[in-house]
Amino acid sequence: MSDEAKNAYFDLPALDVSVAFPQATPASIFPPSVSDYYQFDDLLTLEEQAIRKKVRECMEKDVAPIMAKYWEKLEFPFEVVPKLGALSIAGSTIKGYGCPGLSITASAIATAELARVDASCSTFILVHSCLAMLTIGLCGSEEQKQKYLPSLAKLQTIGCWGLTEPDYGSDASSLRTTARKVEGGWILEGQKRWIGNSTFADILVIFARNIATNQINGFILKKNIPGLQATKIENKIGLRMVQNGDILLKKVFVPDEDRLPGVNSFQDTSKVLAVSRVMVAWQPIGISMGVYDMCHRYLKERKQFGAPLAAFQLNQQKLVLMLGNIQAMLLVGWRLCKLYESGKMTPGHASMGKSWISLKARETVSLGRELLGGNGILADFLVAKAFCDLEPIYTYEGTYDINTLVTGREITGIASFKPAPQRNQSRL
Ligand SMILES: Cc1cc2nc3c(=O)[nH]c(=O)nc-3n(C[C@H](O)[C@H](O)[C@H](O)COP(=O)(O)OP(=O)(O)OC[C@H]3O[C@@H](n4cnc5c(N)ncnc54)[C@H](O)[C@@H]3O)c2cc1C
Repeated sequence: MSDEAKNAYFDLPALDVSVAFPQATPASIFPPSVSDYYQFDDLLTLEEQAIRKKVRECMEKDVAPIMAKYWEKLEFPFEVVPKLGALSIAGSTIKGYGCPGLSITASAIATAELARVDASCSTFILVHSCLAMLTIGLCGSEEQKQKYLPSLAKLQTIGCWGLTEPDYGSDASSLRTTARKVEGGWILEGQKRWIGNSTFADILVIFARNIATNQINGFILKKNIPGLQATKIENKIGLRMVQNGDILLKKVFVPDEDRLPGVNSFQDTSKVLAVSRVMVAWQPIGISMGVYDMCHRYLKERKQFGAPLAAFQLNQQKLVLMLGNIQAMLLVGWRLCKLYESGKMTPGHASMGKSWISLKARETVSLGRELLGGNGILADFLVAKAFCDLEPIYTYEGTYDINTLVTGREITGIASFKPAPQRNQSRL
């Protein structure tokens, strides 16, 4: 570098942070919702609109300011549990036992509103409500419902739901955890993996293979019972606030009264999964709405080449593509709810809804990540966090592929989950 160039370089004025770093509002101050372009609200009942408003207000006010901090630390925000409990959404569609008895649409709207601001909070409620509570609600005895559901509905106690095992993910119906009948109860032995909320849950709904019948049975386990251990899975890149655990069951005794009488085969979980899959389909909708809202504000706040980012044609095209995706996702999600409510929804319908919506959401959040430039990789502006949070949702409750194959089986009548038997090498 010449002396002249060096002098010019060191004479530069002190870096103006407001120029180097845009005066963009962080996600802790959540932007207003602007994604309802086709006035989807008109399709909702007054009750559903009221739930949307109530959940949105709570999430924007109580969760948005703290979520990036907890997400970064991989910690669960226990401080918001009473606020989420006060929303009266846990227990969703269950009637009685202190549960709200919401319509499937109202429950879906609540799920999306939670996910719009924070996907981890939405997953926490979903596992607790639409998996653990719903299994008790649909497959539990009258005594079990009366005993467990009221405090779960208030989030005074927390539930988790353990189906997946280290060696059986997509192939969960082949699970190997065993249940052996003994006097007065059952002995459970085995392992579970990825179980959300399990490190602190008060009750754990666990599925195990009855060694006498070879069928899957369900059990309610209480926290801290001898032989039960749940260890947090570290280093996740998505849903970092959700506490997923590895569960070890070493000769765990479960009394007869805590066996779920309505789970006598793997098929019995399908009533629960029918609801939870619809709910999971609404998480990517909510995430995409939040990302769109954030991008819409950011593009007006940040300037380049003397103009707001929103003034560039390429950026407008990306915004419009995101907005179009959201309108389509909302309508598919809404139709799924209506099919369920009229008793017409098939497993293939639910699976196609979940897989297609999560695929479109992946496209939407990656456009959003691009639109924020460098700030698109900072958790502070939501988009990077949402981008990462969507990945596990694309995978859980049936991966994209498995859900596609469920629909494929339904429309062709041919199941293609298991590879055809290998042909004999010598005959090739
Ligand atoms: C954050 C998170 C939270 C979770 N929470 C829970 C929970 O609370 N409770 C619970 O029980 N489980 C939970 N799960 C487990 C989740 O349901 C499984 O991860 C999921 O079913 C996929 O199983 P796997 O991870 O073992 O993947 P695998 O089954 O090993 O699949 C790996 C890849 O192979 C593909 N694949 C597998 N089989 C086929 C096939 N036949 N044809 C084509 N492709 C195939 C899959 O699509 C995937 O791309 C959670 C998972 C995550 C990541």
